[in-house]
Parts: sequence; structure tokens; C-alpha cells
Amino acid sequence: MNKKRQLTLLLFSIIAMLVTILSFTFIINPTAQPRQEESIATEETSTSMSSTSIVETTKPSEEPTQTPWIQVEGEVSLPILMYHDTKGTPGDNNSIDISLFEQHLIALKEAGFYTLTPEEAYKVLTTNSKPAPKVVWITFDDGYRDFYENVFPILQKYQMKATNFAITSTTQAPHHLSLEQMKEMKASNLVSIQSHTVSHLDLSTLTNEQQLSELKDSKEFLDTNLGQNTIALCFPAGRFNDDTLIIAKQAQYQLAVTTQPGFATLTSGLLTLPRIRIFPTTSAENLVASISLAFVDGN
Ligand SMILES: [Zn+2]
Repeated sequence: MNKKRQLTLLLFSIIAMLVTILSFTFIINPTAQPRQEESIATEETSTSMSSTSIVETTKPSEEPTQTPWIQVEGEVSLPILMYHDTKGTPGDNNSIDISLFEQHLIALKEAGFYTLTPEEAYKVLTTNSKPAPKVVWITFDDGYRDFYENVFPILQKYQMKATNFAITSTTQAPHHLSLEQMKEMKASNLVSIQSHTVSHLDLSTLTNEQQLSELKDSKEFLDTNLGQNTIALCFPAGRFNDDTLIIAKQAQYQLAVTTQPGFATLTSGLLTLPRIRIFPTTSAENLVASISLAFVDGN
């Protein structure tokens, strides 16, 4: 009888001890877990982006992680696409159907292409590195209004980027982009507006003074009105002379695109970059196949 009592007491005390241990760990754990997570999260964000650490510590999980750029072994080749308008005007080789442009974007996205800003294109060429295995710089010439009406909604739909080279004297013209439209598109971070000079004249026929004002005044107009540092220039009709290149540098352009065909490289010259012309007959399949050639042999 006594032994039985002793046994039950022992059993009770063992159970009581177990309950205390279990409840103790149960209380401790939930508080310990998030604290650990919090410290890891802040550590990660503070090393990746230190300048904006105040914002990041409040909601660390929502911040995008910065992926490092890939260093290329050989000289990096960059396809720069040249579009004009998307009105699908019959017989006009510069005018493609907007549905074709959408097919191009879908195919580029599916093939894993990353669309560059002018600043990223400059970084690609000057550091011989890239933010993704396949990159492309999509450019449109002449600042036509259909870019705002047709192209911009499609860029938003697929979250892909493009640059428009605008003629700065045409912002009041009915078929060209207005300043308000430029500002709205720039704010989306999907569109960059760069210079196609003031009045779209053949630069090779102008005096050096005229060339300088065409290049400088258009840059100043965009810098002031869009609150940016305009770094890229597109030569009207792809025409320029030796002086143009000196003047472009003087006017502080870092990149200039031509109408010469080919992939852009540092060797091709930052102020004489070739481009791939897009025709109304350029199928999405052919486009992706041809520009993917820039990324063979470890490039
Ligand atoms: Zn043009």
C-alpha cells in the first residue's frame, strides 16, 4: 500500500516535471523564432542595400534582392533594336503593326531577354558585364504620339522597358509626344526619353555651331523639363560627320546610336553604336533567333 502510494507520487512528480518542461519550451519558442528571423532579415538587407536601410528594416521581405551583374569574358555584344512607329502604315518600312510589336515583346520575354535603360546599356558596354544572360535595348525614333497610345500600354502589360528618341521642337505637334505624356511615361520607369536633336536636320550638312545648338539645346530641354541627365543621342536619319562626334562629346552625351546594322560593342564606339532595324516583316521568331546570336560562346 505504501509502496503503491510512493509509486503514484513518483509518477505524478515525473508527469508534473514533464509538463513544466514542455510548457516552458512552448512559451520560449514562439518568442525566440521571430527574433531570430528578424535579425537575419535585417542583416541581409543591410549588406545588400545600406543606403535605404531605414525603409527596409520595416518590411524586409518585400524588398527586391539585387542580383549581381554577370562579367563577360570576351567583348560584350549588345543588340539595340530600332523601331519608328506602330501605326502599320502600308508601304512604309518604318511602320509596323502594334500587334507585331506585342508579339516581339512576348517572344523576347519568353526567351529570357532583359530590357535595358540607356544608363544600363552604358554600363553594359563600359564594364563588359550585364544584368542578365540575354539583354536588349529597345529604341524608338522620332517621338511619335502612337508610342504613348500603343506602345506604352504594352510595355506596362509586360513590364518591359524602351527608350524613345524625341525631337524636342515637336512637343506641341499633334502627332508627336507632348511633354505631359513624356513625364507620365518617365514616371513609370519603363520609358526613357532621350535626344533626337531639336529639329531633326541632317547634322552632316550643318556648321559646327548649328550642330552644337541642335545637340546641346535638345539635351538641355530634356534635362530641364524631365529632371534628368540625358545621356543618349540618336543622329537624325543616322547622318553625322567627324565633327558631330567631337560635338556630341562636348555636349556631354555618353552614347549615340546610328542606323548602321549590327550588334553594338565598345569597339564599335560609344558614339557610333549600330542597331538592328525592325521591318514590318520581322517576325518575332526571326528577331529572337537573330539577336540571340549576340550571346553565344560565353558572351
Ligand atoms: Zn528620325
